[in-house]
Amino acid sequence: IQITDLKKIYKTEELHTIALNDLSFEVKQGEFVTIMGPSGCGKSTLLNILGLLDNADGGSYKFNGEEVIHYNERKRADIRKKNIGFVFQNFNLIDQLTVFENAELPLVYVGLKKDQRKQIVEEALDKMQILHRKNHFPQQLSGGQQQRVAVARAVVNNPKLILADEPTGNLDSANGNEVMDLLTELNNQGTTIIMVTHSENDAKYSHRIIRMLDGKKVIENSLV
Ligand code: ADP
Ligand code: ADP
Repeated sequence: IQITDLKKIYKTEELHTIALNDLSFEVKQGEFVTIMGPSGCGKSTLLNILGLLDNADGGSYKFNGEEVIHYNERKRADIRKKNIGFVFQNFNLIDQLTVFENAELPLVYVGLKKDQRKQIVEEALDKMQILHRKNHFPQQLSGGQQQRVAVARAVVNNPKLILADEPTGNLDSANGNEVMDLLTELNNQGTTIIMVTHSENDAKYSHRIIRMLDGKKVIENSLV
């Protein structure tokens, strides 16, 4: 991932907010990078753009060597579905769907057949040690269990990149460390991870910390 002079401005009637102010950095394939910074510094905005959920207003974003900055929603969705997995602070599971159905969703979106989906989903749930709960609904699970389902959902399409937004923010430290171990394992298998967190403990699992302030990068610390 290569972003250069990335700019994002939120315009409302009375106010223009510069959320990203010529932000530049690079993340190599296989890296595990943490983004830190105070509330309002642009972290969520950045993750939305990196995840191709939103467009920037200027600059360059190269994903896998491909300039994606001007892509429309359809083209962004195409890259997103094939390459990117998301893990959120509040798990973002759908309460009306079972554990299995939640984890299956990314594969439904790419149009995989039912029997193929079953095998992949069960394997992912098994890896996350939550397969025994596949017919339960999210509200029947503890927070740590829900996040393991969310990680399974993030990995079923074998993404090159996982974007994690405060993945341990709603977990106690034991469950949080368990989720960080899972992310580390995925990273060891080659998945690139970019994580936003307020937790210095979580950041220690990564290779590098990018610290932001007011939409800019202020410092970079290598941890390896
Ligand atoms: P962080 O995730 O670091 O807390 P955000 O990316 O959410 O920061 O926000 C960066 C800045 O952009 C903040 O000043 C925030 O108020 C503003 N912002 C975020 N989303 C919107 C929006 N949809 N409309 C207007 N301003 C926004
Ligand atoms: P925590 O310690 O994280 O708060 P809970 O007390 O919510 O955990 O849950 C303890 C165990 O009971 C977990 O394994 C959870 O999956 C299970 N559990 C909680 N609520 C339900 C429910 N409504 N139906 C089935 N299992 C449940």
